Amino acid sequence: MKIAMIGSGYVGLVSGVCFADFGHNVTCVDKDPGRIESLLRGEIPIFEPGLEELVAKNVRQQRLSFSTDLPAAVAEADAVFIAVGTPSRRGDGHADLSYIYAAARDIAKALKGFTVVVTKSTVPVGAGDEVERIITEARPDAEFAVASNPEFLREGAAIDDFKRPDRIVVGTTDPRAREVMSEVYRPLNLNQPPLYFVERRTAELIKYAANAFLATKVTFINEIADLCEKVGADVQDVARGIGMDNRIGSKFLHAGPGFGGSCFPKDTLAIVKTAQDYDAPLRIVEAVVAVNDQRKRGMAKKVIAACGGSVRGKTVALLGLAFKLNTDDMRDAPSISIVTALQDAGAKVRAYDPKAMDQARAIMPHVTLCEDPYHCAEGAEALVIVTEWDEFRALDLPRIKKLLAAPNLIDLRNVYRPADVRRHGFAYVSIGRA
Ligand code: NAD
Repeated sequence: MKIAMIGSGYVGLVSGVCFADFGHNVTCVDKDPGRIESLLRGEIPIFEPGLEELVAKNVRQQRLSFSTDLPAAVAEADAVFIAVGTPSRRGDGHADLSYIYAAARDIAKALKGFTVVVTKSTVPVGAGDEVERIITEARPDAEFAVASNPEFLREGAAIDDFKRPDRIVVGTTDPRAREVMSEVYRPLNLNQPPLYFVERRTAELIKYAANAFLATKVTFINEIADLCEKVGADVQDVARGIGMDNRIGSKFLHAGPGFGGSCFPKDTLAIVKTAQDYDAPLRIVEAVVAVNDQRKRGMAKKVIAACGGSVRGKTVALLGLAFKLNTDDMRDAPSISIVTALQDAGAKVRAYDPKAMDQARAIMPHVTLCEDPYHCAEGAEALVIVTEWDEFRALDLPRIKKLLAAPNLIDLRNVYRPADVRRHGFAYVSIGRA
């Protein structure tokens, strides 16, 4: 199969290289020439474990190429995947579909022979209909079908998720599109992932419903954590205790500073907006959005309380800026709300992240970026673990204590056991534990 991947970001790049690794011929296209130039030089513009090696291998074996030439890639493709961004639209929270529709217009002009145009981006119900309308209007002669194939990969484990998915959802009722999509995913047959064919609008909604449900689960355990703190219970044990119930399941029950990232915040907001438009409000998800926003800001209050009620003129050190471990992605990361709230309260902020420093430099100009956790701790009144990177799990606590101006450790990911940390003389605050 010949595949054109339009958009070479976290999803496009990972999907493109994995399709190439299955044996397909893939061209990853991006409108950003800098991104394509760096990919052509063998430099990967994002951090994703294993990606660099897999890209190098598939380029070497001539199944993967990079280009800004969308028309050339589309003209020879059997399937064109749209994997461009769908951020929140400024002002109203709906998904901004302008990148999708711009790509559809460009694709329309270049189509040659029967082609399946696939939305891999997360798009609200009906976006596929609009893509179809745009292409039909621009090219009434074109032979094509529009399918939806939402992506469920997680940043940080993206390659494994793509190659060993729980399910592959394909929204189409067109028999030829079904055949092409079956062929695209055929190399995964050995792993036997269910290729689940549904109607296009249903596929679009499955993606949002999945993310809304997972975000609800995270927010639920976060609120239970607050209750644990008040009543003297341990949220880790509560999560384990309920997670052992198969009806509930143990995943996504890790209490923390609130969800962030490039998907949950914008997708929960977008499904809320869609539901309101269709007069079928999703009140649970509305509450999730509100509770989570408040929680991210509220984390700064925990830090301020640990510093004796004020951080004015004091230095606070943050470990971890990416929205979760194993990614450099800082979109809507809890660290952003925490830094803003701490600076508003008069604190000077130092920070370190193993992979997100370039992104941080652009987003957080007034934060002192440090070389490692120990440099970060120097002279701070409090050390805050915001992201649970492996390298923060076994810090040299006596050394950290000597470097800090006051021995306050605020662990927003429950990386440490309270007794262990307190034994070293720290005042220790975590999430949902007495
Ligand atoms: P991203 O911002 O990392 O990448 C998007 C890329 O598309 C950018 O490089 C941009 O330059 C390029 N682009 C935009 N318009 C283009 C055009 N007309 N032609 C060519 N290139 C164009 O975004 P992402 O994180 O990869 O997300 C893409 C989509 O996948 C979103 O809808 C997102 O919700 C969804 N998704 C993301 C994840 C994730 O973990 N990041 C997981 C599942 C689904």
